[in-house]
Amino acid sequence: MAPGGGVSSCKELVESWQKVSRFDTTNIHDELEKSITCIGEKFQKCSIHELLECPICRRFMYPPFYQCPNGHTLCTNCKIEATDFCPTCKVELGNIRCLALEKVAESLELPCRHQNLGCHKILPYYRKLKHERHCKFRPYHCPYAGSECSIKGDIPTLMLHLKEDHKVDMHSGCTFNHRYVKSNAQQVDNAIWMLTVFDCFGRQFVLHFEAFSLGMTPVYIAFLRFMGEDNEAKMFNYSLQVGGYGRKLTWQGVPRSIRDSHGKVRDCQDGLIIPRSLAFFFSGGNGEELTLKVIGRIWKESA
Ligand SMILES: [Zn+2]
Ligand SMILES: [Zn+2]
Ligand SMILES: [Zn+2]
Ligand SMILES: [Zn+2]
Repeated sequence: MAPGGGVSSCKELVESWQKVSRFDTTNIHDELEKSITCIGEKFQKCSIHELLECPICRRFMYPPFYQCPNGHTLCTNCKIEATDFCPTCKVELGNIRCLALEKVAESLELPCRHQNLGCHKILPYYRKLKHERHCKFRPYHCPYAGSECSIKGDIPTLMLHLKEDHKVDMHSGCTFNHRYVKSNAQQVDNAIWMLTVFDCFGRQFVLHFEAFSLGMTPVYIAFLRFMGEDNEAKMFNYSLQVGGYGRKLTWQGVPRSIRDSHGKVRDCQDGLIIPRSLAFFFSGGNGEELTLKVIGRIWKESA
């Protein structure tokens, strides 16, 4: 009997077992971690977006989410439109909420959809929609008035679009001197004459000039909009002056952001308004052809 040897070999056995088991556990742990990361990545890369996108209209769903008895999800709008049958598998739809997915959505934080336009906000899923409606990186509508132009984009995109698709006049500099000439001016009651783009202080402004009726009075209006946000627009001022034959009309204003539609600015008369009768005096004309000389200047308000 060699009790010492027995103890020793027993100790060895325990130690080697501990080594093995430590080794194995680490390995298992590593493997487990790897696969969790893998699942996590997969989940993040495709499933979250795919799961929360309505498979019918491809828009992100907002509660209540619905599902058919077979588990196909769909958004509220698509459920209303689908009436009785699941658009995916055609079984009767019923009225089944998909609460689990609503809860999953609630727990998520997702990037703003205007990320590619420069927004770096990460927001809880349900706050995202609200933010996106006011996100300052959201695309602007094309400022060209008078056409139903549906182009949207950031300022550089719109500049290119105005130049190439609308053939708009581009000017650089903060002062301008324009002549608007119109024959048969009496017949024009509602016309958008011109849009001119000014590049000054490294920013872009659009000058609108058009005829419309103010109540029963035919008038012309000229105003400036700023291609950017409202808080930036407020940092600028502009003046417009129209005159001729000893008469003069001057306007000083603040450019409006192109977030405010052209129609909105016109309808609240935030610009130089020239009654048509006066416009003919400025033209010195015969009441037929109209020639208006507009002088303008843009400057930066010193804070
Ligand atoms: Zn839908
Ligand atoms: Zn279904
Ligand atoms: Zn945003
Ligand atoms: Zn356009």
